[in-house]
Amino acid sequence: MRFLIALICCLTWQLQAQKPKKPSSSEIYEQIKGLNFLGSALYVAAHPDDENTAMISYLSNTLHARTGYLALTRGDGGQNLIGPEIRELLGVIRTQELLAARRTDGGEQRFTRANDFGYSKNPEETLEFWERDQVLSDVVWAIRNFKPDVVINRFDHRSPGTTHGHHTTSAMLSVEAFELANDITRYSDQLELTDAWQPKRLFFNTSYWFYGSQDAFNKADKSNLVKVDVGSFYPAFGLSNTEISALSRSQHKSQGFGNTGTRGNQIEYLELLKGEYPQNGNLFEGIDTSWNRLSDGEAVGTILNAVEKNYDFKNPAASLPDLLNAYKLITKLEDKHWRELKSLEIIEIIKACAGLYIETATSKQTATANQKIALQIEAINRSEYPITLESITLLPSEKTLAISQNLNFNTRYSKSVEITLAEATLTTAYWLTKEGTEGMYAVADQHLIGLPETPKKNKAIFNFRIDDMLIPITTDLIYKYNDRVNGEVYEPFEIVPKASVEIKEPVVIFPTTESKVITTNITAYTSNINGIVSLQVPENWKVSEPQKISISNKGETKSLKFTITPPKNASEGILQPIINIDGTDIFTKVVTIDYDHIPLQTLVLPSKNKLVRLDIAKKGDYIGYIAGAGDAIPESLNEIGYQVAQLNVSEITTEKLNQFDAVVMGVRAYNILDELKYKQSLLLDYVSNGGTMIVQYNTARGFDFENLGPYPLHLSSDRVTDERAEITILDPDAEILNYPNKITSKDFEGWVQERGLYFPNEWDAAYTPILSMHDKNEKSSEGSLLIAQYGKGHYIYTGLSFFRELPAGVSGAFRLFANMLSVGKNNQEIKP
Ligand SMILES: [Zn+2]
Repeated sequence: MRFLIALICCLTWQLQAQKPKKPSSSEIYEQIKGLNFLGSALYVAAHPDDENTAMISYLSNTLHARTGYLALTRGDGGQNLIGPEIRELLGVIRTQELLAARRTDGGEQRFTRANDFGYSKNPEETLEFWERDQVLSDVVWAIRNFKPDVVINRFDHRSPGTTHGHHTTSAMLSVEAFELANDITRYSDQLELTDAWQPKRLFFNTSYWFYGSQDAFNKADKSNLVKVDVGSFYPAFGLSNTEISALSRSQHKSQGFGNTGTRGNQIEYLELLKGEYPQNGNLFEGIDTSWNRLSDGEAVGTILNAVEKNYDFKNPAASLPDLLNAYKLITKLEDKHWRELKSLEIIEIIKACAGLYIETATSKQTATANQKIALQIEAINRSEYPITLESITLLPSEKTLAISQNLNFNTRYSKSVEITLAEATLTTAYWLTKEGTEGMYAVADQHLIGLPETPKKNKAIFNFRIDDMLIPITTDLIYKYNDRVNGEVYEPFEIVPKASVEIKEPVVIFPTTESKVITTNITAYTSNINGIVSLQVPENWKVSEPQKISISNKGETKSLKFTITPPKNASEGILQPIINIDGTDIFTKVVTIDYDHIPLQTLVLPSKNKLVRLDIAKKGDYIGYIAGAGDAIPESLNEIGYQVAQLNVSEITTEKLNQFDAVVMGVRAYNILDELKYKQSLLLDYVSNGGTMIVQYNTARGFDFENLGPYPLHLSSDRVTDERAEITILDPDAEILNYPNKITSKDFEGWVQERGLYFPNEWDAAYTPILSMHDKNEKSSEGSLLIAQYGKGHYIYTGLSFFRELPAGVSGAFRLFANMLSVGKNNQEIKP
């Protein structure tokens, strides 16, 4: 039993798709073919969506190789097209989208501890954020654990600067890890948990993209490229490989990567980087991928090749006697790696051939530690083969329920039991429990590194006796209910704290010494909680007294209001709500993420908010805002006391504009709102009559807007991605840097993700450039903030990333934005 529990704990990630698999007869046959293939491939790239799903599906479904995709990051740095989650929560969604993609194309998913911190231009910049040695160690760890025969890179390790720095870095680290994985002097701590491993071949999965154009690729010398046709058709699934690939790619819904399938031949090109060139085009040439690969595998192969040959599509159970004989031999194999993998694989096939269904359903989706919950156990044998359910072992308690029940043909066995949940099995994403750095997640437990999810701890092992063998089949505890519209719904069962405590606004801004009333929400995750809620604020801030709270019903949320008073001077710090229940402090909030294409996600995260007392003055009160692609600038301006009116394009009239102290265009407004063309002259007239107009970044590609400013202005793709890049002030006396707030280099400290993007690179002499900045080893750009007097008013174009900085509570960005809004109002009374 010890061995089994250890085995289950290290391989559980394979079994976590929460909906039970119910393979058809032809799908079982494909699984048997996979059982008879002993070879594996690992695809390596940087982000969710980098992976070539046609290649992964080909390796997995055509060749039947065990196939992994190692994405160095979880894609936290991107945009979310389906909801409000960004950063870490977006990383959680994209992790699940990768798992959904792998469930579709048959691959397995792996990661490293690298965090997708945003765009970087080259590997040098990437490695300023990623700890090179840690990420390399994780790639080596992935290779040593997965033991691939073939490693395939998505990107070219030899062309830094031609694509995202994360991409090139993924390829460079993979090339390096290829040999290091077999070097026992490197990362030797890992070797206490796994063995060194030398893959046989390393490829780069090239395409026309890397040659600049389809034409250049057509003409290129391809003698060193292996050609693979990935257009197979699978009668068992009724789909072409390329159709499966599109279904897999379409799981990347947060990125809007819905993809239409194609049919017919499709050639993929693999450039050999290391190992011997495969003359016959077979990626596994020279590697024995049959059972003969193992010194004691021949007998297994003899049995299982016959199972494959004689498989009866009308009666899969006819294969059971041979499968059981093979299982007995597999559990005795010397090679631990293949023994563990193939044991799990053949158990799944035995289960499917017997039409054996098992389930352990909880009565609630969540529960708290030490709580009693009801479990509904089901087991049914839908074959005539004699099977006895001997016992069920519950994890993590290891408590065993003796059962000894013969499972007669198609007769359902069910049982209700009540269990007490163990402590310390709290649900959450393991990589988010400790604070990491901008470029790295902190994960202390080496066993967890690389796993896509936190292994579930609450499980049931069904111990079946079939013939003379005890066969354990493990299943997660799941929550199941009937939805009136969707029918049967499965959700992961989760253990959460007794309560969640949360303040909605991630950043609370105090533009003056005036107090603010903050709402704290408390949600009960068990019935009848009584607690004391308090807020922790930084030194020299003040907060009102702790308050008692009682909530009777599980799932109910109540709110308490607290008054926070900032200090006199500028200050920043953490605001932490706490609820004390029965002497225990809870500092966390429970966050759920619910989308149709991924399992319900429940996360227990630190409940932390940011407090900012700004030293800020402003002029003007009433701002007109024309939203572009969407940003939170209006809310941020509200926080510092502006009144913001959001306008549709059709509402832009001279009369309306004249009410505003300034008009601001949201990010990418001119890219998105075609009709702005017809309003631009009204807007520029407003400026000429004394108004202030601020235009935030627009993307340069295909941009053909004639009169973006009152004078000629040309957008480029110049960007400064290093948020710490030094800023040179070109014109220290410029009004925009002095009134009403004196802007100094200190105001450019603490910026997040980047300085700015799509800066103009040419402009009319009527514009004054204010700032100069550049990324390492690049030319300076002076186009980040341009201002021009036009008639009696002012026009400002800025690619600075205010849309990121203001919601993050960056005080210098607030002060500069207030100055932009206040330009030309020097003679008016200054407001705090
Ligand atoms: Zn990418």
